[in-house]
Amino acid sequence: MRKLLIFFFAVVVVALPLAAQEKPAGHVPDKAELDKMIARFAPTPLRVDTSHLSAGDKKALAKLIAAARVVNDIFMQQMWSGNHAEWRRLRLAAGRLPAWQRENESAVRRHDLASARLHYFWMNKSPWSELDEWQAFLPDVPPRKLAGANFYPEDMTKDEFEKWVNTLYPESQEYAKGFFTVIRRDAKGKLEFVPYSTEYQADLQKAARLLREAAALTDNASLKKFLTLRAEAFTTNNYLDSDMAWMDLDAPLDITFGPYEVYNDEVFNYKASFEAFINLRDDAETAKLGFFSSHLQEIEDALPEDPQYRNPKLGALSPIRVVDEVFAAGDANHGIATAAYNLPNDDRVVTQKGSKRVMLKNVQEAKFNSVLKPIAAKVLTKDEQGDLSFDAFFTWILAHELTHGIGPHQIKKDGKDTNPRAQLKENYSAIEEAKADITGLVALQYWLDHKAPVVQSFSEKQLYTTYLASSFRTLRFGTTDAHGRGMAIQFNFLKDKGAIIANADGTFSVDFSKIKEAVRDLDHEFLTLEATGDYAGAKKLIETMGLVPPELKAALAKLGDIPVDIEPQFVTAEELTEKKK
Ligand code: ZN
Repeated sequence: MRKLLIFFFAVVVVALPLAAQEKPAGHVPDKAELDKMIARFAPTPLRVDTSHLSAGDKKALAKLIAAARVVNDIFMQQMWSGNHAEWRRLRLAAGRLPAWQRENESAVRRHDLASARLHYFWMNKSPWSELDEWQAFLPDVPPRKLAGANFYPEDMTKDEFEKWVNTLYPESQEYAKGFFTVIRRDAKGKLEFVPYSTEYQADLQKAARLLREAAALTDNASLKKFLTLRAEAFTTNNYLDSDMAWMDLDAPLDITFGPYEVYNDEVFNYKASFEAFINLRDDAETAKLGFFSSHLQEIEDALPEDPQYRNPKLGALSPIRVVDEVFAAGDANHGIATAAYNLPNDDRVVTQKGSKRVMLKNVQEAKFNSVLKPIAAKVLTKDEQGDLSFDAFFTWILAHELTHGIGPHQIKKDGKDTNPRAQLKENYSAIEEAKADITGLVALQYWLDHKAPVVQSFSEKQLYTTYLASSFRTLRFGTTDAHGRGMAIQFNFLKDKGAIIANADGTFSVDFSKIKEAVRDLDHEFLTLEATGDYAGAKKLIETMGLVPPELKAALAKLGDIPVDIEPQFVTAEELTEKKK
């Protein structure tokens, strides 16, 4: 669910494909080209204050980081059967293997190209550049990431798999198509499924031991339970109970650990990749969320929509956690850095317990500093740049997430019960994302007007200026995805209303005398489209307003050299685990 639902710093597959567009297929980048590819990610330290943790949790944290490092090993194996050998070769060439692991001292050459290759390999956890549509950046490897990664035999076709599955008993079919098995060939070349607990046995045993040690050290009961059950799942290959325990996890150490997302299986989206997020709960932001959530009905009742469409009684919201990331590994640490995720994906858990959204505040802050600030320096006036505020930005993102939960959800169309998604169809995502952006602004303006304590860390001026700057971050990636299209609609609408002004020097400004009313007018548009299930209206709005106008194109062209994303440096994790050794 992560990549579909992620707000702002989305996983953008088509982001500035440098090598892919400029070089023919099969081209192996040299040192200068690799440096350019690497420079698209700004190295950014992720430092987290761990001083408030209990003594037991501090020790548990070091164990969990060690366990997460094992996840890197499993994940690399999942991505490609040749990955570990390639990684070893690269380390050898770059002189990064310890002496006892070097078979041949003369093979050790410390040269720049080898180091750059090793560096970029680690960032991608494979020899393929994710930002360049998975094109290879090393010689003598497959030209692109294999669609089935290492989940299926390389020579297996979709057709062969499906024919084979049809010969199986229903229960076996479930395993064959399940999250937690790989497909291999037996001695006779026939397909068979192998549970993760067997395929990754040695690594999983190592990880399980570390999780159990962490469970023994922590004083938090919900964490103890999750870690114990997850360690058990690594042996039994049954993840259900531990997924349930993850939903109940409420602890200063907020951990996500296991096989989850299925995107690397591009053949069927069946097989889950291992990932680990080792996070600390952010108590101040959690309190802020608590305030917003418990007053959401007040916002619903004040929305700029026809009162007949208002929901008099909002249902329960799915939980949101705000955390700071200490360490990420495996599927959680390659390519674009994950800024938020929604889990689990297992429908059996979602039906019983719902799902949970985790927002990585320090990752968002790192992206804000390394990407959004340089963007603002090019598209805002000097004066306005001083009004950029991470607090305003992050609070607005929280408001965006929460306001997905308000506005029209159950509607009537031609006398029948239905919902906006079903009615707006392919137009729904862009409209719903834009609705959440704008309703988020409406909600924050409401709390600013009511002088709510949770919005005292920023001003109205900072909120709208930060909103304007961030719109460029989204628009930069074009209007092919829902967020980009939704943002283009907002930008064009607000500009037509005079709330966003294009200055003669190519920068943009907010007109504070017009922005509030224009935002409410736009919200009224979105909410009415959803409440009436107006497919034709939504389509027309996207076709006429979801485009990038020429003056905006000129502004976006100036952003070429600004990093696309960050390269997280886990400084706190390194400090914590060095001391333990
Ligand atoms: Zn959203």
